[in-house]
Amino acid sequence: MRPFAYQRASSLAEASRLGAETGRGQCDAPAQFLAGGTTLVDLMKLDVLRPARLVDINRLRERHGGIEVAPQGLRLGALASMSDVAGDRAVQASYPVIAQSLQLAASAQLRNMATLGGNVLQKTRCPYYRDPSWTECNKRNPGSGCAALEGFNRNHAVLGVDRSCIAQYPGDLGVALVALDSQVIVNEGQSQRPIAFADLHRPVDGRPDLETMLNPGDVITAFIVPAGPWTRRSLYLKVRDRESYEFAIASAAVALDLDGDVVRGARIGLGGLAYRPWRAREAEDALVGKPLTEETARDAAHAALAGAVTHGDNDYKPELGRRTLVRALLQAKAMEV
Ligand SMILES: Cc1cc2nc3c(=O)[nH]c(=O)nc-3n(C[C@H](O)[C@H](O)[C@H](O)COP(=O)(O)OP(=O)(O)OC[C@H]3O[C@@H](n4cnc5c(N)ncnc54)[C@H](O)[C@@H]3O)c2cc1C
Ligand code: SF4
Repeated sequence: MRPFAYQRASSLAEASRLGAETGRGQCDAPAQFLAGGTTLVDLMKLDVLRPARLVDINRLRERHGGIEVAPQGLRLGALASMSDVAGDRAVQASYPVIAQSLQLAASAQLRNMATLGGNVLQKTRCPYYRDPSWTECNKRNPGSGCAALEGFNRNHAVLGVDRSCIAQYPGDLGVALVALDSQVIVNEGQSQRPIAFADLHRPVDGRPDLETMLNPGDVITAFIVPAGPWTRRSLYLKVRDRESYEFAIASAAVALDLDGDVVRGARIGLGGLAYRPWRAREAEDALVGKPLTEETARDAAHAALAGAVTHGDNDYKPELGRRTLVRALLQAKAMEV
């Protein structure tokens, strides 16, 4: 690991100020925030991230680590641990998709250390990104090409990709947050600004090195999930190569408002399949006003994966994605709420 300076921030304003130095790209950003450290320190050891400075934000946990369930919605402090939110009874009852997306992620030890803010900003697990001995990686080394296009791409994305990068967004919480129209609250200097969670991660658009809408020094302080008639009938279905401690190869976050069998409202996110947390609006539109049956669920799943682009090893993903979504929809319909 390369040498770096370590500083602890005692307030948001101090964290923003210390983190605000600009860099050439996200891999080269001279300052990084240290929350749980479970992504950041890993990538520093691998020499993928090379910050000159770490700004420890753990002193902000008390002030920005709360969980509030109110009639108008859910507010989650960005410094809350994954395990605290996964284990919160009110979140489990009113927003099960959020609790499950966290409970099914990583391992118990990681969930205890890791924060929600760090979770949504975690980096891709693309092996070429994580190993600097590969020069070809546009995300780590802009303009160098993409080794995964012709290489090992079994876990790579099929939605939202272009020839510059086919990396998969690996997180689970982000899939639930994008489905539920969540907002991110960001602190910049002295002020707070809300961003739609759907806009936090940039589309690839030929620049995979630019990952989010955040500016240097921006600290995520909270996530707001608006209440809705669909949040109780919601779930997260994760398909992976082994039953625990593994990233998704396909996942679906589903929230339904039903009138008998008929879909009044649907909120759907997909994970393991896309370049960024993916909202499947085509699938939602295909369902609304129709009875939820295996057939309509299949039609919705076809609509969701219609734009899939595969690259050989990941040819299996569109069908796996469709089956995952059908199963999630039918399981959500069967929930007793
Ligand atoms: C073996 C392994 C398996 C895993 N499996 C899964 C899985 O199945 N599902 C899943 O979702 N995740 C999984 N993860 C990822 C894990 O959940 C993340 O590493 C963790 O959530 C990151 O949170 P952190 O607090 O440790 O972030 P850190 O490592 O401290 O930070 C990560 C990044 O976010 C930035 N950052 C952190 N907090 C803020 C903030 N508040 N504002 C602005 N920037 C911030 C940091 O600067 C850094 O760039 C796994 C990780 C490992 C190592
Ligand atoms: S898929 Fe993206 S992260 Fe992976 S090698 Fe290609 S450019 Fe790099």
